[in-house]
Amino acid sequence: MIKRNTGFTHLTAGYLFPEVARRRREYAKNHPEASIISLGVGNTTEPLPKFIAKAMADYAIGLSTAEGYSGYGDDCGNAELRRKIAETFYNGMADADEIFVADGAKCDIARLQTLFGSKVQIAVQDPAYPVYVDGSVIVGAAGKNNGKGYKGVTYMPCTPENNFFPDLSVVKKNSLIYFCSPNNPTGCASTREELVRLVDFANKNGCIIIFDAAYREFIRDDNLPKTIFEIAGARTCAIEINSFSKPAGFTGVRLGWSVVPKDLKFADGTSVNADWTRVQTTLFNCASNIAQAGGLACLEPEGLSAMKEVIDYYLENVRLIHKTLEGENFKKAGVQIYSTGNSPYLWVKFPGMKSWDVFDLILDKCNVVTTPGSGFGPAGESFIRFSSFGHHADVEEACRRLANLSL
Ligand SMILES: *Cc1c(COP(=O)(O)O)cnc(C)c1O
Repeated sequence: MIKRNTGFTHLTAGYLFPEVARRRREYAKNHPEASIISLGVGNTTEPLPKFIAKAMADYAIGLSTAEGYSGYGDDCGNAELRRKIAETFYNGMADADEIFVADGAKCDIARLQTLFGSKVQIAVQDPAYPVYVDGSVIVGAAGKNNGKGYKGVTYMPCTPENNFFPDLSVVKKNSLIYFCSPNNPTGCASTREELVRLVDFANKNGCIIIFDAAYREFIRDDNLPKTIFEIAGARTCAIEINSFSKPAGFTGVRLGWSVVPKDLKFADGTSVNADWTRVQTTLFNCASNIAQAGGLACLEPEGLSAMKEVIDYYLENVRLIHKTLEGENFKKAGVQIYSTGNSPYLWVKFPGMKSWDVFDLILDKCNVVTTPGSGFGPAGESFIRFSSFGHHADVEEACRRLANLSL
């Protein structure tokens, strides 16, 4: 028989969200009368803007005509879409041939892990989006878990005490550093000064940063950088990944992109961009052409303003949840809210309580599903992540119930 990939044997707890879903299902089974509202997973809820959906529908119908049909497209993405992404989001900081269209940022993380292989040293923010570590475990780059964490992974705690920006001195030379801003789960958006420190550290220490900017469109503070390439020196040390999932509601449509600058080199002086092109052509045939037609529509003026409206909708939910968590019942329990209004998430500390206990309490007393912070890493213990992805009416109802919660 064939031996199991040892990476899988090294995976520890199940993926966070299936466990959240399991507890929700079990609760629903035992309480069939409960109407459960989710402020849990980061899944978009609002319908696609008509303009964007119509572009995809028109493209799909076009496929049934001789003029409109297309088969395999360019492996690295529709040329017009690459050009428009470069122009809209990078404006001189990256060129079209440094933009690679993808079927989503999560899938790009997996392919990037094949690019760097099993020998690379990893550093992640703690807490972090679970895919960075679990994906590294699967490809064998993380090694074994000794109960405190994986041997090949350096954890960079991000806590209220350090303003959610880590002490970089713990990171080993030549590490692959996963960095997400605005952050999932903490909601923290790093400042320019902080990202300058990150880029300088990476350049001095032979590190490559994988900068996850999936939430960039939620940044409403004009002083905050929206891409790592706003920082001088990033072109020699950073890859950026991004996605239409959160700003355009493309979580199900599937479309994202990566930026790999031509100035980025491996230790032997070869081009990372060239190998990444090779990964695209060998292991991937790019995103669906229908999704790419939707991406083009997103970047039209009408699409851009429609995306902004949807994000405003979620940010209004953030405001509602924030206000509720400032209530007397939470204040008395010493609950602290970390939310800067530049992210769809609220990161909330319940001092003296365990994350899963707070999760179970809120599920039981309010029938509201949240996400336990400890699932994102040890530094997330005692925290709960509230997600603002939901219909206003549901969020309002969840807030009414939370306002009556006694802690
Ligand atoms: C949702 C999310 C993504 C987007 O993933 P897709 O595969 O593009 O849907 C990427 N990074 C983080 C941190 C996310 O929360």
